[in-house]
Amino acid sequence: MNEQHDHTPGSARPQLVRLRKKSIDRYRDVAGDAVVDECRELADSLRGLRVLELSSTATGGGVAELLSSLVPLERDLGIDAEWRVVTGDRSFFEATKRLHNGLQGMDLAISELQTSEYLWHNEETARAIEDHWDVVVVHDPQPAAVRSFLKRDAAKWVWRCHVDSSHPCPGTWNFLRPYVELHDWAVFTLDEFIPPGLEVPTSTILPAIDPLNSKNRALPSYLARQTVGDLGIDLERPLITQVSRFDPWKDPLGVLAAWRMAREEFPQLQLALVGAMAPDDPEAWDIYAKIENEIRGEAGAFLFTDQMGVAGFEVNAIQHVADVVVQKSIREGFGLVVSEALWKGAAVVAGRAGGIPSQLIDGETGLLADDTTDFAACITELLRRPELARQFGAAGIRRVRENFLMPRLLRDTLRLMKDLAESVDQSRK
Ligand code: UDP
Repeated sequence: MNEQHDHTPGSARPQLVRLRKKSIDRYRDVAGDAVVDECRELADSLRGLRVLELSSTATGGGVAELLSSLVPLERDLGIDAEWRVVTGDRSFFEATKRLHNGLQGMDLAISELQTSEYLWHNEETARAIEDHWDVVVVHDPQPAAVRSFLKRDAAKWVWRCHVDSSHPCPGTWNFLRPYVELHDWAVFTLDEFIPPGLEVPTSTILPAIDPLNSKNRALPSYLARQTVGDLGIDLERPLITQVSRFDPWKDPLGVLAAWRMAREEFPQLQLALVGAMAPDDPEAWDIYAKIENEIRGEAGAFLFTDQMGVAGFEVNAIQHVADVVVQKSIREGFGLVVSEALWKGAAVVAGRAGGIPSQLIDGETGLLADDTTDFAACITELLRRPELARQFGAAGIRRVRENFLMPRLLRDTLRLMKDLAESVDQSRK
């Protein structure tokens, strides 16, 4: 293989993610009885189903956010669900980030060394997986090749793609496609994300937020304001924020540029860029350093990471207090942060990308924008028109309540599992 990396067999076992308990009945008040009852009904025939969720990080991005609620709720309904994350060193995650970026359409090549790193970690993961699952759900490209190392496995394998894979870079897709096609099923966020010619049965499921976790639960205004004030933000001055990984697709430097333009009209305007440092995202610190350099000495710009203790509860408070929440995504799978912000009644300006327009109806629950100038214009419009901002906020809460809360995602997931479980039964007859 190569001399630079530790390839001792067994050194890259996938790690079990330990999770707190959750109860589906706690969601009745917020999401309604109908969807919770439907989840219970679907789960009746799934009791004891052994489900493994395989992803690449337990913290710091949308997939981790989803699984940390979905898996406990599956367990609450009697499903024997487990979540493991693949482990790897920087070179593995550099390779997988290239695959991630290539899948979202960046024109990138993956070197022979990176290919072998990727496959070695996938093989190690496969070796550590015991052959007793009914369903294995593989999230995104990081563990996409695991199935290829377990050819006689009896489980049904699902590839769950969370990114916009509508126009993948041909080199990346030629590499990944044979691995993806070894799965029994593939799930995408939107129909338009299904890469052309994929030969696997597919369906789509839209993600959702957990209204009862610390990031999204109702927060009294005084506590939200106190929390934001403690971060050094001036509560007497207007604030805009973007909460996102430091990633080129989220365009944090573009947010900075839009803030500078908006400040020409609102000189007091503050900006908080909040970014979690996912361990599977080696690009983040480089982008962070660039932003830090750009805003050095600039009053009113704040840069936070989860390493500073700015995590779930603080993110909740910032989204709650901000006058405008920005999500300047250029390409986006879904963008949970948009629903998170809408759920708090925030005025939101977001990029017309991927799953964002399915959450944010332009002119009804917020504003969609295209380029930096457009973002600046939408931000200043919402700052000028607080009544409009409030109107969008109220409509946004309704939209999320009806479409993007966790029990709906659980229901859609259980429906898929029911179909898969039936086909497991068929194949065992
Ligand atoms: N997030 C967070 N802290 C941060 C940045 C992001 O908790 O500093 C969370 C965010 O609230 C959301 C998730 O990470 O729950 C990001 O999901 P999204 O779908 O928006 O984007 P992804 O990172 O998966 O591309």
